[in-house]
Amino acid sequence: MKRYVVGVDVGGTNIKLGVVGPSGEVIVRNSFATKPFASHRNKLIAALSREIEASIITAGLTRRQIAGVGIGLPGLVDFEKGAVRFLPNIPGWTNVPLKSILQKTLKLPVYVDNDVKMITLAESQFGAGRGVKNFVCLTLGTGVGAGLILNGELYRGEGNAAGELGHMPLNEQGPRCNCGGWGCFETYVGNRALFGLASRVMKKPGMTTPMMFALAKKGNKKALFYWKTAAERIGNGLVGIVNLLNPRLIIIGGGVSHNEKFLFKTITATIRRRAMRLQGRAFKIKRAEFKDDAGIIGAYVLVMNAQR
Ligand SMILES: [Zn+2]
Repeated sequence: MKRYVVGVDVGGTNIKLGVVGPSGEVIVRNSFATKPFASHRNKLIAALSREIEASIITAGLTRRQIAGVGIGLPGLVDFEKGAVRFLPNIPGWTNVPLKSILQKTLKLPVYVDNDVKMITLAESQFGAGRGVKNFVCLTLGTGVGAGLILNGELYRGEGNAAGELGHMPLNEQGPRCNCGGWGCFETYVGNRALFGLASRVMKKPGMTTPMMFALAKKGNKKALFYWKTAAERIGNGLVGIVNLLNPRLIIIGGGVSHNEKFLFKTITATIRRRAMRLQGRAFKIKRAEFKDDAGIIGAYVLVMNAQR
């Protein structure tokens, strides 16, 4: 029986692999650094193929027990054609037919998708979004992204590019953004913006969100003010999404979400204050259930859904 999936989560820093079983359990894990392969695309593809084979063996499984391989990548991925269109943080990945390349070497079905969509699928089937038909899964980090589950299905958009919540413009004259636009949500709540805000609030260069979290835990007033400001920024950016999509749940993941205590109440209050009445009452905020394994578990859901 084909009940297992090899999940691969390609990140700008690390590449994580895991073999996932039918209840979303990760039975084997492995990871390696992305940097040595950053400008060697073919070497990276060869390494992926090698590591996928190795993890099947480590898991004590045979190929016949593997339903397929799911690969999440940080960028624009054409799920239907199985091609990587563009990865902003890993050079050399423009229009790469990764699915067909790996299917030839692995002789297993391969599916590729955007990493935030995989995280959303994991939360939808096994995590905080279990049984919820309409939710937004927001990931906060260096980049800010989102996955949308609408009417119980992952919403992809025309080119599988829906969900770029980080690039929703909030300000006609805001700061320039990596995407080419300006005043985007990410320029206010991405790590770079939040680190900058931390340094300004503390009047000290080099401040980071983990440092601000530690200070807030000790009751530091400036740090508490900092988190209130950050939460208001996040909440303000989500008002339009709540009005537009009327979700039941907003799941928040990524590094900053560990500071739940200093964030979620203010985010909720900010949205309730500004959103339309009905939508503003209908939603709740929850922290993502999965951290490091989210992409790998999402790969399981992706492969199983594709073969349903
Ligand atoms: Zn942008």
